[in-house]
Order: sequence, then structure tokens, then C-alpha cells
Amino acid sequence: MADNVKRVAVMGSTGSIGVNALEVIAASEGRLQAVALTAHSRLDELAAQAKRFRPRWVVASNAKVAAKFDRKLLPRGCEFLKGPDALVEVARQADVDVVLAGIVGRAGLESTWAALDEGKTVALANKETMVMAGELVSELIKKKGGRLLPVDSEHSALFQALSAGKTSEVARLILTASGGPFKDLPLHELQQITVAEALAHPTWDMGPKITIDSATMMNKALEIVEARWLFGVDAAKIAVVIHPQSVVHSLVEFIDGSVIAQMSPPDMRLPIQYALHYPDRVNGVAKRIDWRQTLHLNFDPPDRDRFPAIALGEEAAKVGGTAGAVLNAANEAAVQSFLDGDLHFTEIVPASRSILKAHNHESRPTLEQLVKLDKWARQEVSRWVCA
Ligand code: NAD
Ligand code: MG
Repeated sequence: MADNVKRVAVMGSTGSIGVNALEVIAASEGRLQAVALTAHSRLDELAAQAKRFRPRWVVASNAKVAAKFDRKLLPRGCEFLKGPDALVEVARQADVDVVLAGIVGRAGLESTWAALDEGKTVALANKETMVMAGELVSELIKKKGGRLLPVDSEHSALFQALSAGKTSEVARLILTASGGPFKDLPLHELQQITVAEALAHPTWDMGPKITIDSATMMNKALEIVEARWLFGVDAAKIAVVIHPQSVVHSLVEFIDGSVIAQMSPPDMRLPIQYALHYPDRVNGVAKRIDWRQTLHLNFDPPDRDRFPAIALGEEAAKVGGTAGAVLNAANEAAVQSFLDGDLHFTEIVPASRSILKAHNHESRPTLEQLVKLDKWARQEVSRWVCA
């Protein structure tokens, strides 16, 4: 094995990000090695991945599902670990160089935190960690010397474009958004949106939670907060623009008026590959723009009445403290209620807003306080659903 092999723990390996990450690892010609795989359900898929990638650790984070799993399905030499604590155990292993945070939602917090606490590099897809605890995570990185490399396509684009100038020269970060499937639907029809319609994203193929977030534009709200903490930029300097083609992944405007964009077809393998191979660029598996074809790129200001979620993201990024954790938890629970058929599509954002407004804001919370508030906000969503 070559000396410069990066040993990657793929957290959430059966998810959309996880599967793409494994494709990037498979195409890396041995430079990347999957040393840990984790999944919450669909353990047969996890076992098939383990057969192919031969990791040292295989984690089934849902202990109940794990109890029914036949570990003989795993190849010899794999250590099988169960339960949520095993995610943290794996993220802290000295033999892990990079943790690919591909778990969805608040469940990704502890393992991401643990890796950074060890001073490791985290390739971060799990934006919810930064929305919930971005300020504390930034402080942890300063203290322990770890590093976050964004995998979210917009933040990967910003990270790359930011290298064109100094932080003090940044005028604005401009996040692009596809607008999701409902950007042109008559407003009165939004009320009747079905789960299947909301799950049909026009440009990206992603897991269910982020796909619903994209339809409500809560995804962009969460990304505003994510950008605020990842790049240490004031909320007032973060803007959103609708770009339906999803080719320009985001832009940085500098004080002289120059705008630097990162472009590529919508394919998550590129930002994953960029983060895992960083600081190198490699000739990988991601799709490329075909410059022999006409390429139209449109940019429109977002319709803020249609997408009230954007204002919630701006507010959470501006006030900081506990706001991100409450917004994140309320949204996560509301999305689950919508997927379960207990909430209308158009109630996701109002429920999140009312819970955000109702909470007692604290400007310097501890991680424990944030975890408690996360539980509280979820209970509030249950009350909203039952009301
Ligand atoms: P997904 O639903 O496809 O996959 C989620 C993964 O996490 C699965 O492996 C699942 O087993 C695991 N998981 C689910 N619940 C868990 C729990 N409670 N504990 C431990 N593991 C759990 O999700 P995804 O679309 O791959 O998204 C993953 C993360 O990446 C999200 O934070 C999302 O916002 C972010 N992201 C995704 C994309 C994308 O293209 N899918 C793009 C940008 C950012
Ligand atoms: Mg994104």
C-alpha cells in the first residue's frame, strides 16, 4: 500500500452521499481507502459494501436493527460494532485520517464532533451539525487543530472561489439554489403537494430529507447558517440566487466587484472527491460540462413570499446562539411528519418558524443545552401535529 493512502471513515455509507463517496474511493486508484462503513438500516446493503471495500470497522448505528443482523454476511477481518456510540468510537480511531460525515440530520453531530475533537479532518456533508452548533464547532477546530472541508456543493464552490482573494476582500457569498420542483407552481396549489411530488427534485438525486428541504428551500436556509460558520462571514454578507440549471454551485463577490464562480454539472461526486483528495485535484469520475453544447445559465432573485424559509435561515445566521439548533430540529421533525403523512407540505416552514420564535434564545449555549433544545423543538412539532 502506498504511503500517502488516506484512510476514510464513511459515515452513512448506504445513503446518497455515502454511495457517491464509495464510488470516489473506488476510482481513487488506491489513494483512498474506506476503513469504516456505517449505516442505520438496510444492513444487507452495508454488508455488500463491506464485501467490496473490506473495511476494518462496520457499524450498524441502530442497535435494534443490528440485533437481527447475521454478522456471517460480513467478510472475515471486519469488526462489527453496534449502536450510536460506535459512530463516535470509529470517528476517534487513530487509524482514520478523514471522516466523511454523510449521516443525515442531527444524528451526525456526535461523530463529527468526536473527529474534530481528535484534531482530524472532516469532509462535511452533514450540514445540520453546523446549523445546530456551528459556533461551538468553530471553537473546537481552533482549540484542537482539526479541519472541516465542505462537501455540500455550494460550500465546496465557495471554498474554492474564496481562494481567489483575502477574507477581508470578500463582499458577498452568493449561494445558488435550483428552486426545487415548485418554484413556478401557482401558490394555491402548494397546499396539495404530495410526498411523491416533493421527492421529485429537478436536478439532484439525494436522500429524502434534503430533497424535501430543497422543495421548501429550507435547505438554502440551513446552508446560509452553514456558510456563516464554515467561513466566518457575517450573515448580512450571504445572499441567495435562484439558478435552475445547478451548474454554477455558488459565487464569491469581492470588494472590487469581481465575481468568482465554480461550475460543473450537478454531480456530488465532484465536491466529495475534492474534499477527500484535498489539496490535490485528480482526474476522477464526476461528469463534465460539454462545451460543444449550448449552455444557458439563468439567475433570478428568489421569491421570498413563496419561500419564507430563506428569512428563517437569515435570522438564525444573524442571531446565532440557540436559533440554529431550534430551527434545525423543528424542521427535521416537521419534514419527518410530512413524510409520514401527518403534516401538509405548506405547514413545514410555519411550524419551524413558530417554534423558533417561541424558544428562549440564549446567545452562548453549551453543547448540552443545544442537545436539550433539539429534543424540546421536536416535542413542539409533535404538539403542532396533534393540535
Ligand atoms: P440519505 O438519507 O440518503 O442517507 C443518510 C445516511 O445516514 C444513511 O446511510 C443512513 O443509514 C444514515 N442514517 C440515517 N439516520 C441515522 C441515524 N439516526 N444515525 C446514524 N446514521 C443514520 O441522506 P443523504 O442525502 O446522503 O444526506 C446526508 C447528509 O448530506 C445530509 O446532512 C444532507 O443534508 C447532506 N447533503 C446531501 C447531499 C446529497 O446530494 N444527497 C448534498 C449536499 C448535502
Ligand atoms: Mg447544497
